[in-house]
Amino acid sequence: MDYRNNILKDIENAEKIYIAGHINPDGDAVGSVLALALYFVRLGKKPCVLLENIPERFKFFYGTQLWYNGDYDDIAPDIFFAVDCGDKKRLGKAGEIFDRSKMTYCIDHHATNTGFADIDIINAKASSASEIVYELLKENGFDAEKDIEIAADIYAGIVFDTGGFRHNCTGRRTHEIAGALVEGGVDTSTIHSRVLFEHTLPQAKLFGAALNNMKHKDGVSYTSLTTKEIEGCGCTSEDLDGIVDFLLNLDVSDCAVLVTQRSENTAKASVRSKQFPIADIIVALGGGGHKLAAGVTCEGSADAVADMIVKKIIEGKNNG
Ligand code: 5GP
Ligand code: MN
Repeated sequence: MDYRNNILKDIENAEKIYIAGHINPDGDAVGSVLALALYFVRLGKKPCVLLENIPERFKFFYGTQLWYNGDYDDIAPDIFFAVDCGDKKRLGKAGEIFDRSKMTYCIDHHATNTGFADIDIINAKASSASEIVYELLKENGFDAEKDIEIAADIYAGIVFDTGGFRHNCTGRRTHEIAGALVEGGVDTSTIHSRVLFEHTLPQAKLFGAALNNMKHKDGVSYTSLTTKEIEGCGCTSEDLDGIVDFLLNLDVSDCAVLVTQRSENTAKASVRSKQFPIADIIVALGGGGHKLAAGVTCEGSADAVADMIVKKIIEGKNNG
């Protein structure tokens, strides 16, 4: 993909530069947004980062001081970058600011992204938004590997979204970029541990609750958690990483579903698959993602949403 663009020209005269990632930010959203923001800092700009929150385990990323946690009401950017967002809804509250921006960019790698900004830089073949940010900087003559902070954020984002270079989104180019970043000096073992493997004691308890509730039907392993169960373990919705992947990795699983209650009558589903493409089913429900990893928020109890999605997946697998 040709990443040539006019970013340098577009930000040259911009003062109010805002960069946002998706709600419930994951490692790729935080890494890509902060890497892009730090790049603009290196160019002498003062960008603001809009993220719903920065989960505790990603606080070690570089550039978190650029996070803006104030009032959104009076912000009207000269330029707005939506990063790692498959659709506008995924911006959450930052969507209001997007609408008030003079110019908008979307930088994303979700196959389900149809483009919602003035300028869309979308590459569904890229492993992660962080990988695209690396390429964008390169196109603009900036070697991320020579800046240890930007290099570490990009590496961490890639490690998160590829599950440590395991998922099928990992390509030759992903490894080449990782190689360059390693040569630049990123601390690979610390990043892998912190982004993928370190868990808290409450998370371990929640893992237990999720496995306790697990069901299995026609190659689909699934589980759901109520707010009470999540809070009872001392956790929040930030503490769910790894559960759905564990379910998928079971030898009996073709697909895996984790549904967690998010409010009185809404539940968020995380869906994973080894082969059967699940994106269409999830897009039809109003969500999005990739062929083998997608998510959606639906109305209903966690249990009911899980049953509904599992039914659709089984129907799809039987018809496919
Ligand atoms: P997760 O299940 O980990 O939240 O998300 C899996 C993938 O689907 C990620 O790439 C994520 O960005 C995407 N995704 C999750 N929830 C939604 C959603 O509600 N809408 C869209 N468009 N994408 C989602
Ligand atoms: Mn991503």
